[in-house]
Amino acid sequence: MHGFRLHLREDGRHHGLRCLALALLALTGCSKLPDKPVLVHRDNMPNVVLITMDTVRADHYTSRLAATHFPNAYSTSDWTLPSHASIFTGKYPSTHGAVCTGAVDNWLTELDPKHDTLAELLGRNGYRTAAVVANSEMLDASSKLDQGFHYYNSKRADVTAEGVELIETAHGRGEPLFLFLNYMEAHAPYTPPVGQAELQAAVDALNYKGQAPDPKQLRQWVEAYDRGIAQVERQIGIVVAKLQTLGIYDNTLLIVTSDHGEAFGENGLMEHPVSVYQNQIHVPLVIKYPRQTTSSTVTEAVSGVDLLPTILEIAGVAVQPSVDGVSLLHLPKERFVYAERFPCGADNNDRRLGVRKLAAMQGDRKLIWNVDGSADKTEAGLAPAQATVGFDLRKLQTPNTGKQVPVSPERLERLKSNGYAR
Ligand SMILES: [Zn+2]
Repeated sequence: MHGFRLHLREDGRHHGLRCLALALLALTGCSKLPDKPVLVHRDNMPNVVLITMDTVRADHYTSRLAATHFPNAYSTSDWTLPSHASIFTGKYPSTHGAVCTGAVDNWLTELDPKHDTLAELLGRNGYRTAAVVANSEMLDASSKLDQGFHYYNSKRADVTAEGVELIETAHGRGEPLFLFLNYMEAHAPYTPPVGQAELQAAVDALNYKGQAPDPKQLRQWVEAYDRGIAQVERQIGIVVAKLQTLGIYDNTLLIVTSDHGEAFGENGLMEHPVSVYQNQIHVPLVIKYPRQTTSSTVTEAVSGVDLLPTILEIAGVAVQPSVDGVSLLHLPKERFVYAERFPCGADNNDRRLGVRKLAAMQGDRKLIWNVDGSADKTEAGLAPAQATVGFDLRKLQTPNTGKQVPVSPERLERLKSNGYAR
């Protein structure tokens, strides 16, 4: 599955191939329907291990876990903060408000403490809550994504080593654990470093001046990106092996997903956050439910907002009606999910990147709206009249103006060197 290619699922040819692949899976013992997990008694609360592989796009990732695979999963946004805030609250970016709308030195909006987060809800219900986060720039405590975590380390720790330690400690104490791990190996600068300065120059040249990158260099970056994904997969394997060794894998809810993808020249764009095209929002989602031993596939469009209701249901915690997501155990047919792009910093002034956008997805169909109400038909598979169901387009014209986090000059320099700001 690895390699550079444009992946547009609206294309009938690709759709046919996908159906064929599903048919083959069915023949080899996989079913299209999810295994119904056994909901556990409160005395036997499952561990919850939630892993985000930062920046991993769906068409560059394959998981061999015996689990439920969601080939039409979407992040709610094209970058780290809003997407993680959606996973943690079950709400879309325009509802939770942790987005960016401001100028380059005042652009992050923290997650409002009024939202009940996954960590808060699980913590109140007897879970030990812990996070080890590699994306220290976007997910540090100033984002307020640490709400509800008993332990939150965003200081560039060894994510796997510390995650394994937290699992051992909670197991030793007999505490049910909610563990959140975020990996950065697939994020630029790609590992091992392949000319970050050249990469940044190529990103700026394509995104802002329309100058195509050198094809040979582009190929090298894609290969390095894929090596980063393989590294993350090895780390996840270590975490899984630890759970198995301790004999608690069976009673663990394991979720592996990503917060957004990465562009490699498709639609004349590079890196992220740049759009709500497939390369930016189509992400892996693999869920190993407690007691699940065989694989299955669910083809409905699903979203990061669905993780909170799903996790809470399996943990036996009530879900509030205010969340936008639904439990994946009771997935309605023909449902729409959404992703939003809020232009950031210098992008606000750019002709292409400064446009706020909304993507609506249903099954494997999609339509993108621009802030002025016009349809961006680049990936159109849905008719405009269909794609507005369930989302108030007026929200596009009234961007959230939550509390913004001032960015210090030192942080601004780091953001610039990482390509987040210009
Ligand atoms: Zn990210």
